[in-house]
Amino acid sequence: MNSGDKLFGRLLKRAPTAATDLPDHLGSPPLGLHLHLDADGGVLQVAGPLRNLLAQQPPHDQPLPLHRYVQPHSTLAIEGRPVEWQGQSLDLDFPGLGDQTLHLRGWVQPLGNGWRMQLIDIADLLLERQQSRSREACQTLAGQISEQLRACSLARLPVIVDEQLQAIAQRWHIPCLALAVLDEQAQGWKIHRQHHAHDAPALWHDGQYLGTALDSLNGTAPQHVGIHHGLDEHSRVQATFGNSEGFVVPYADDRGVVAWLLCGFYPINDGAPYLSDRDWLLLVSALAGPLLGRLREQQHHQQLERLESLQTLLGTGWWEIVGNDVHLAPSLAAALQLDAASLTREQWLARFHRADRDELHSRLQALQQQGEALTLCVRLHSPDDWKHPLWYRLQGQVTGTGEHRRLVGFMLDISDIKNQQQIAATAHARLDNLIASSPAVIYVQHYVEGALQPAFFSASLQPLLGWSLDDCTTTALVERVHPDDRDLYFERTRQLLREGSVRARYRLRDSRGDYHWLLDEAKLLRDDLGLPVEAVGLWLDVTEATLAAEQVRQSEERYRILVEDSPAMICRYRPDLTLTFGNRPLAMYLECAPEQLPGINLGEWMSDEQRETFVQRLSSLTPEQPVSTAEINLQLPGREHAWWVWSDRGVFDELGQLIEVQAVGRDNTEVRRTQQQLTQSAKMATLGEMATGLAHEINQPLNVMRMAIVNVLKRLSSGDVQIDYLTDKLNRIDTQVQRAARVVDHMRVFGRRSEVEQQPFNPATAIEGTLSLLAEGMRGKGVELRVSETGFEVQVRGYVDQLEQVLINLMVNARDALLSKRDAGREFKPWISVYAERDECSVRLWVEDNGGGIDPRLLERIFEPFFTTKPVGVGTGLGLSVSYGIVENMGGHLSVSNSVEGARFCIELPIVLDV
Ligand code: ADP
Repeated sequence: MNSGDKLFGRLLKRAPTAATDLPDHLGSPPLGLHLHLDADGGVLQVAGPLRNLLAQQPPHDQPLPLHRYVQPHSTLAIEGRPVEWQGQSLDLDFPGLGDQTLHLRGWVQPLGNGWRMQLIDIADLLLERQQSRSREACQTLAGQISEQLRACSLARLPVIVDEQLQAIAQRWHIPCLALAVLDEQAQGWKIHRQHHAHDAPALWHDGQYLGTALDSLNGTAPQHVGIHHGLDEHSRVQATFGNSEGFVVPYADDRGVVAWLLCGFYPINDGAPYLSDRDWLLLVSALAGPLLGRLREQQHHQQLERLESLQTLLGTGWWEIVGNDVHLAPSLAAALQLDAASLTREQWLARFHRADRDELHSRLQALQQQGEALTLCVRLHSPDDWKHPLWYRLQGQVTGTGEHRRLVGFMLDISDIKNQQQIAATAHARLDNLIASSPAVIYVQHYVEGALQPAFFSASLQPLLGWSLDDCTTTALVERVHPDDRDLYFERTRQLLREGSVRARYRLRDSRGDYHWLLDEAKLLRDDLGLPVEAVGLWLDVTEATLAAEQVRQSEERYRILVEDSPAMICRYRPDLTLTFGNRPLAMYLECAPEQLPGINLGEWMSDEQRETFVQRLSSLTPEQPVSTAEINLQLPGREHAWWVWSDRGVFDELGQLIEVQAVGRDNTEVRRTQQQLTQSAKMATLGEMATGLAHEINQPLNVMRMAIVNVLKRLSSGDVQIDYLTDKLNRIDTQVQRAARVVDHMRVFGRRSEVEQQPFNPATAIEGTLSLLAEGMRGKGVELRVSETGFEVQVRGYVDQLEQVLINLMVNARDALLSKRDAGREFKPWISVYAERDECSVRLWVEDNGGGIDPRLLERIFEPFFTTKPVGVGTGLGLSVSYGIVENMGGHLSVSNSVEGARFCIELPIVLDV
């Protein structure tokens, strides 16, 4: 028995004697018990060395029957009388002292009248039989366990382990059973699986780490634990079981103890008295051996899988040169889009970029011949993109010697890194280039005891200011700052140190003595402790920008003055007519201070109709045609009417939405008034001109009336007065009075000034009014009037009296032309034709005569003011020009052409649709 077994023995908690003395004991002669029986089996006498061990001692008075001495189950063997037992071997169990049982085997022989029974101790014999039976069972079970564990799939392994634990536990009635294995990573013992009976508490759980208990039972050298430290391992193991009883069985392989079987609540001697230590060891090795093998296999498998996926993820893989062939990891072959994972060395080399091929070839040879380790960055032709090669780091080494010598290595895809390096290098180069060629200077100033000392300037310093770093010591730099800006510069440094960053603008002198405006932006860099280390900054030459800004400021100032002092009204307003700005003249008209203008609504000064027209006009503004000019009419505070010539320019957002209007206005009221006066005087002139016609117009009814009155008076004086006659005459007089009254009425209306606001009216009423004034006079002069009924109802916008004035002008002009033509030839039949026609949107009134027309050379000039062909004192030359203005003002147009017989004037007016 070696020291390991001893250790196990102690761990198995066996009394050393029980196990070690067994073989010796079997060899010694049995010491017996001798019973003297009577013929009925009564015990007369008890002798022999075992006599004192019997629980039942013979009484003194009378013999007890034998079955009183043996245990109840043994009474079967001694039924009847001793004579019947003769020739048989009797196995009898006797109750011994202290709950022990004496296993004895005996025979009966006749002795005198009675019988002599000789019994020998067969306990050891029984024990051995039990043990061998147990061992057999144990070996069978162990065989099953190990076979099951070896044969099952990895997935079912935990279930199988559980089943085996359960089988062991049930076979030997172990309440709590667990397998602890060495966790090499955690360097501790871990419960792999555990089993406990339904009525037993769980001492452990799966995956539990056995913190302290088995720590010192370091599996690497079990036999040393006890010896060197002299510690009682058993007591430590005991802690694993708490207060309950239990024992542990180790499993050792070539690495030492790597697993333990833990049995809890289990006094081994009682539980499995016939299982030897070897049996336990066999059992645990049947369980732990294959299990650990399988677990290792699983681990290996997982590791391989991990390695494989890692290789795939990293775009890496191993390669190995065998003879003239190169084998590649499947992942690598896939990444390189190779059909096979094995190719010849030449084929492999051909995959590499021509630039790297020779070097790789020679380095591979060096590896093969001298065993020189290989590290190389190589390019591979990308299967997808011929222009952009893949970059790989290729490493190789020699492992093993002799026939185990291998050339292996790996390839790692470093395209990303290489590409980034290249991008970074390009970006760097670009940045350098940019800095060098930009009007900016990058500088670094070191922080030294509270001051900042120039330490670096980018190369752009030379072209920009004509200095080098050496020219720029701290003091030299300050001297170059413009004297007016030095305070600014010192404050810049203070602020930089105080706040960590600064932005300043000051002038710096260049090597030629010219000053540059520099925009200085700097940041202070601090160390881990927050102490300043250096300032990094940028000088931007903003001389041009600064000067330009100054110019803009000046020009803005000029424009501001222009706007403010302009005699014109200038303003900005929103599409809802709210002013956002207005200059002094506008404020003056609106009788407030310029500051009060924003917020005022321009519409306040307009009538509803005017406002509507105004807003409508604004809505016609587009980004393409943003300008519109119109004469607007307002009711200003304290003034009757104001006429402004108003130009609007729309400002649009990117969606073409009107956001603001800029407007310039001029007060046109005076011009308007003059115009009105002019119209009025022209009207008066027309009236004057018509005076002759009018006299006739009124004279005519007067004559008729006088005739009627004379006739009536004549009748009255002759007394021949009939009521009918009188009534007839008086009615005639009344008709004439009405006629005269109409003429006078109309004269009055015509003489009035026009209304301020244009009104919609039917142009036919103007024709009627004109004819009521002129018809009689025309006829009196022998001019035929040809008037066609309009036959339609339309509305135009303007002033009816003004349109009448136009028609009167045209007809009077025609009359003049006709009369002067008739002066030449008496048989001439003059006529004037007045008619109207319309289309969708306009109405045209025609006034045509047969007076011979207008000299074509004068056609263009007749609308000019004061143009006349009539003698001085007769013509004013205003009639047509005023008429032209009136028609334009109504939104229409007055034109003239020559027809076959005379002149033909056309008044074209827009029809108002929605009245
Ligand atoms: P006035 O009648 O005072 O001369 P107008 O402006 O009314 O001023 O007319 C300008 C001129 O146009 C006239 O002098 C005349 O020569 C010419 N004119 C106008 N109407 C006619 C017409 N129907 N036929 C011929 N000439 C005409």
